[in-house]
Amino acid sequence: MAERVDVLVVGAGAMGASSAWWLAKQGRSIALLEQFERGHVNGSSHGQTRIFRVAYRDPIYTALAAQSIPLWRELEHDAETMLLEQSGQLDHGFTAAIDEIEAGLLGAGYSFDRLDPDAAHERWPALNFDNAVLFSPDGGRVFADRTVDAAITSAQAHGAQLHFNTAVRAIEPRGDGVAVVTDDKTWHAGSVVVSAGAWVEGLVGRQSAWRNYFSLPTLAVTEQQPVHFAIKPDMEFPSYIHHVFDDSPGAALRFGAYGLESPGEGVKLGLETHRPVKSLVDRTLAIDQVDLDASIEYAHRWLPGADTSKVSAVRCLFTTTPDAHFILDRIGPIVVCSPCSGHGFKFTPAIGKITAELAMGGEQRRPEWRISA
Ligand SMILES: Cc1cc2nc3c(=O)[nH]c(=O)nc-3n(C[C@H](O)[C@H](O)[C@H](O)COP(=O)(O)OP(=O)(O)OC[C@H]3O[C@@H](n4cnc5c(N)ncnc54)[C@H](O)[C@@H]3O)c2cc1C
Repeated sequence: MAERVDVLVVGAGAMGASSAWWLAKQGRSIALLEQFERGHVNGSSHGQTRIFRVAYRDPIYTALAAQSIPLWRELEHDAETMLLEQSGQLDHGFTAAIDEIEAGLLGAGYSFDRLDPDAAHERWPALNFDNAVLFSPDGGRVFADRTVDAAITSAQAHGAQLHFNTAVRAIEPRGDGVAVVTDDKTWHAGSVVVSAGAWVEGLVGRQSAWRNYFSLPTLAVTEQQPVHFAIKPDMEFPSYIHHVFDDSPGAALRFGAYGLESPGEGVKLGLETHRPVKSLVDRTLAIDQVDLDASIEYAHRWLPGADTSKVSAVRCLFTTTPDAHFILDRIGPIVVCSPCSGHGFKFTPAIGKITAELAMGGEQRRPEWRISA
C-alpha cells in the first residue's frame, strides 16, 4: 500500500530541513526522505559555521538576507537555540567589487564603515589588507550543523515524518500529484520538494522522466576544501570575504577567499578553487594536498592571526548554475529547491518558507529563480 502525505521533501540538508520545518508548521502532513544518516558530511550543509551577510553586489540577495533575519529568529525560538550571530562582516580587495557592495548597502539603507588598509589592519590585526575595505555590522555568522538539526527537530515537533537512510530512486507523475519511489515503499503526494543539492540533476534533470516537462539550467558540481587554522593568542577574526580578482571587462577571474571564526575549531579559510566532481557515487572525502598547501600559502600572506601549524580540512560539494542564481520554482507537482552557487546557507529559513509556499500552491515571482518549462 502506498502512503499518502500532502508534501514529500527529498533531502535533509539545510534547504530540505527548513522546507520541512515551514511546511509542518503550516499544518501540512509531510515526510522528509534523506539518503544518508542524520548529520552526514557528504553534501553541502555540514560544518560548524557559514558567513551571514547583507552586503551583496546584487540587491536581490541583500533583500533576501533581510527577509531571512526574522525567520532565523523564529527558527531559533522554535528550536530554543541560537543560530544567527550578527557580529559583523568584512569585504576587502578589488575596489570595483567593494564599490558595488557599498552602493548596494547604501541603496538598501544599511550602515557600513569604509576603511583604508592600514586602519583596517589596526582594527583587525589578524588580517592583512592591501586595497579597499568595507565593514558591515549587520553581517556575521550562522551555525550550520546546529541549523540543520534545529530545523529537522522543529519539523518533527510539528508532526513531520523523518526517514533517514532512505534514498529516493524515482519521482514519477501520478494523477494530479507524484509517486515517489524508495527501496521499500512508494509514496504519493500532491507535490514534492526536491532539495537534493548536488543530486538534483539525477532526480529531475535530463536523465529523468521530467525532461519532457521542464529543463533545469546546466549545473556544475564541484568540490571545495575549506580548512580551519588554530588562532594565535589575542587574535580575533570577523567573517571576511576577500575579492582577490579583477573583474573589470575582459579580466580573467582569478579567485576569491572567505572565512570566519568557528568557536573551538579556529579560523576557517575557503579558497574559491573548484575541483570538478566526476562521480557522486565513487567520491572520496580524501584531503587534497595541493589545495591544503594553497590554503597555507594564502594564510601566510593574508591571515597573520592564523597558526598554520595547526590545520584541519574537510571537503564540501558546490552545485553551481551558470549565472550563480538559485533555482526555486514549481512546475506541476515538482518544486525544485536548489540554492546553489555556494552562498545559500544564510537564507536557509527564508528559502524554506519560499519553497513551502510554492509546494502549497504559491507562484514564483522572481524571474532569476525560475525553471523553464
Ligand atoms: C565549502 C562551502 C562553504 C560555504 N559557505 C557558505 C557561506 O559562508 N555562507 C552561505 O550563505 N552559504 C555558504 N555555502 C553554501 C551553503 O552551504 C549551501 O547553499 C547549502 O548548504 C545547500 O544546502 P542544500 O540543502 O541545498 O544541499 P545539501 O546540504 O547537499 O542537501 C541535499 C541533501 O539531499 C540528499 N539527497 C540527495 N539525493 C537524494 C535522494 N535521491 N534521496 C534522498 N536524499 C537525497 C543529500 O544526501 C543531502 O543530504 C557554502 C557551501 C560550501 C560547500
